[in-house]
Amino acid sequence: MSTPRTAIVWFRRDLRLADNPALATALERCAQVIPVYIHAPGEEAPWQPGGASRWWLHHGLTALAADLADAGSRLVVAQGESLSALRRLIQATGAVECHWNRLYEPATIARDTAVKQALRGDGLHCDSHNAAMLFEPWTVQTTAGEPYRVFSPYWRQCAQKLTDVAAPLPAPGALPPVPAALESLPIDALGLLPRIRWDQGLADTWQPGAAGAAARLRRFLGQALDAYGERRDLPGEPGTSQLSPHLHWGEIGPRQVLAAVRDARADITAGGAGSFLRELGWREFSMQLLFHFPHTPAEPLDTRFAGFPWRTDGAEGLLEAWQRGQTGIPIVDAGMRELWHTGWMHNRVRMVVASLLTKNLRLPWQEGARWFWDTLVDADLANNTQGWQWTAGCGADAAPYFRIFNPVRQGERFDAGGDYVRRWCPELAALPERLIHQPWTAKPALLEGLGVQLGRDYPAPMVDLQRSRDEALAAYEQIKQQS
Ligand SMILES: Cc1cc2nc3c(=O)[nH]c(=O)nc-3n(C[C@H](O)[C@H](O)[C@H](O)COP(=O)(O)OP(=O)(O)OC[C@H]3O[C@@H](n4cnc5c(N)ncnc54)[C@H](O)[C@@H]3O)c2cc1C
Repeated sequence: MSTPRTAIVWFRRDLRLADNPALATALERCAQVIPVYIHAPGEEAPWQPGGASRWWLHHGLTALAADLADAGSRLVVAQGESLSALRRLIQATGAVECHWNRLYEPATIARDTAVKQALRGDGLHCDSHNAAMLFEPWTVQTTAGEPYRVFSPYWRQCAQKLTDVAAPLPAPGALPPVPAALESLPIDALGLLPRIRWDQGLADTWQPGAAGAAARLRRFLGQALDAYGERRDLPGEPGTSQLSPHLHWGEIGPRQVLAAVRDARADITAGGAGSFLRELGWREFSMQLLFHFPHTPAEPLDTRFAGFPWRTDGAEGLLEAWQRGQTGIPIVDAGMRELWHTGWMHNRVRMVVASLLTKNLRLPWQEGARWFWDTLVDADLANNTQGWQWTAGCGADAAPYFRIFNPVRQGERFDAGGDYVRRWCPELAALPERLIHQPWTAKPALLEGLGVQLGRDYPAPMVDLQRSRDEALAAYEQIKQQS
């Protein structure tokens, strides 16, 4: 009797069964399929998952393991160097094939390339697949054959090719069982959950896993898609999809999102559907930038900013007040507290807090990116790098540095009733609309009457918005003159 062909499917950030080409290909080619997760955070250094990401990963793996068990299979969990762990599993199972879905960060590309070469050298059939992108980074180029540095023409080209995107693969039915003798670590053994339990807010907000992703998508399509264009900038309203952590961890893929939008609306080029897909396009664009400019998580894309005179005096206290949501500028503090509590922050507010840090406080964007990296459940090297560089004015397609967000105006415009600030800064809840975004403009007696004393109940603003704006512009003039 011949032994069945065995394949290993190496799960990484593709924690789903549906539209998973690595899994589908392995099932097509082999009778025996072993789903494996190997915990090797050091291989992603210096961008190994931060605290909030580790929390998500724990629950995402738990959900994947349950989905695999429901289908008759089992997730095999290992830790240590990926190549050695794969070789051990190959030896234990007699696997002749190994499949995985591609990642695009510099460290993961280097690791995966080395693993592929080594396993092929061992005589294995080894293949990688695309689960994460509508358009992989090397498939979209300018007419000159260069990567795009500007979003609009990039997306114009992509939007024309949306019809070519393959339909998502269905979830497989029953999966072959994994031999009982094959050892696996319990997910708990990976030590992903925090020892000091700060994660209650995350647990109250999210349902990691493919079922949670599908539920978010259903809610969004049913309740928010049509008004997305108008409501996506209002942080107090559930106007966006909140799919970002699910997309980052691959609990849903962009082909599935695109297909669901297509099923929901006849015309995907206009209205809420068009605006939403355009934002999904920013995810593609960011990945394309990271792939072609792999130095950008640490260095500005716009090289003039390498010599920017960031603030050095008193920087630590300023950074900490910003991190803790104690700047005294309500929309900023609301955002930073939303981030700390839920692991997510609304996009409009991400731009406002990033602008305050890099422009008014003149602290390096890398400091902000690091904090986001540790606290966001959707921390994603491509999107985070692009978002920070865009806001700091040193990235691709940048809003010029001299366009500095005024957080008071931003609050008044996008959180006009102040509900978002009241929710996250309850000490300001009694303030009327005209004061909620700038409590320091009220007479102290009036504030006292509303139960607020600045400096006691809520900080006085840590920075003079006008003066710091002028200083930021002066700093910008310096690098302009040097270039
Ligand atoms: C300073 C800064 C840092 C950021 N860091 C991250 C990060 O680490 N991870 C991350 O996923 N996003 C990041 N973003 C982008 C954006 O804020 C989030 O993707 C978005 O808020 C997620 O919410 P949503 O899923 O409801 O988005 P929706 O509005 O529903 O958009 C759908 C999807 O499109 C993608 N998307 C939307 N906006 C952007 C954008 N501007 N850039 C790239 N992709 C986008 C996301 O995958 C998102 O889930 C950052 C933005 C800024 C300004």
